[in-house]
Amino acid sequence: MSLAHRSDAVHVRAPGKINVYLGVGARHDDGYHALATVFQAVSLYEDVFAHPAADFSVSVSGAADPASVPTDERNLALRAARLLAEETGVSDGVALELRKGVPVAGGMGGGSADAAAALVACDALWGTDVGPARLHALASRLGADVPFALHGGTAVGTGRGDRLTPALARGRFDWVLVTSDQGLSTPQVYRRLDQLRESRGALADDPPLSLDVPVAVLQALRAGDAQALAPVMLNDLEAAAVAERPELDAVLADGVRAGALTGIVSGSGPTLAFLCAGPEAARAVQEELRATGREALHVHGPVAGARIIG
Ligand code: ATP
Repeated sequence: MSLAHRSDAVHVRAPGKINVYLGVGARHDDGYHALATVFQAVSLYEDVFAHPAADFSVSVSGAADPASVPTDERNLALRAARLLAEETGVSDGVALELRKGVPVAGGMGGGSADAAAALVACDALWGTDVGPARLHALASRLGADVPFALHGGTAVGTGRGDRLTPALARGRFDWVLVTSDQGLSTPQVYRRLDQLRESRGALADDPPLSLDVPVAVLQALRAGDAQALAPVMLNDLEAAAVAERPELDAVLADGVRAGALTGIVSGSGPTLAFLCAGPEAARAVQEELRATGREALHVHGPVAGARIIG
């Protein structure tokens, strides 16, 4: 019998995300860039099982390259469990089992989803019941994208991306994702952006230290209007991700040729997210991209954040 079938395990599912808009400002002294972003949680999930145990451990399945996910103290889910135990004085351990559905290092926040799921799962397993405000505070100590994976839906993130305000989004948005076998390192993509900006002679205060999401993006989301959203989507990291992976440019063009309203690099890439007019259009785009030999997935958003299943 696999671990997951033991009835004393807690199963939590958490979504991957797309950055519908990602404005990147200047780098702060702490190394983080000022961000103004809109996250949307999409129907590609991480399943995390927390099994009672005396010690802390983590196992991983479902990743295209399992070796790309550390199972030592660098693992974000394991760090989340340890953090919650420390903060609440719990002396139990946990055996975490991660079943990955979100591509590793794909710019979709898979590790952050694991961390959010681990917090929720361990909180239930240990009966610590810390409540949403404290969970959010712990999440933001683990990483800038972790609070969003807890909340899900559609939200504006400012600061490092961790200061969240829910955004209204009506209806459903259909996306086709083109994934890559090989991930991209987020810090490397930010470094590349800094280099590109330096080479263009950007002034110290240009880009700015604080920035906003354009009203047109929020209006299109509120109206549930994919046609209006497509022309105002933006990712300031896109040029840097494409500089690291030049072949992405051709795929972006192929997706639009196949009928997508627009295509964008998701977060730091290399996953590409194509916004489509509806489910049927998305299926057609998916099929056409698959015919060119690429891995294309049809997902929708917004979906809920980390939730206990069953
Ligand atoms: P980021 O969240 O940094 O933008 P990403 O969304 O592109 O990254 P992730 O899948 O979250 O990609 O992983 C980024 C890196 O974090 C991986 O290369 C891996 O080394 C490390 N990592 C730590 N914990 C995990 C985890 N639970 N799942 C996946 N990667 C993890």
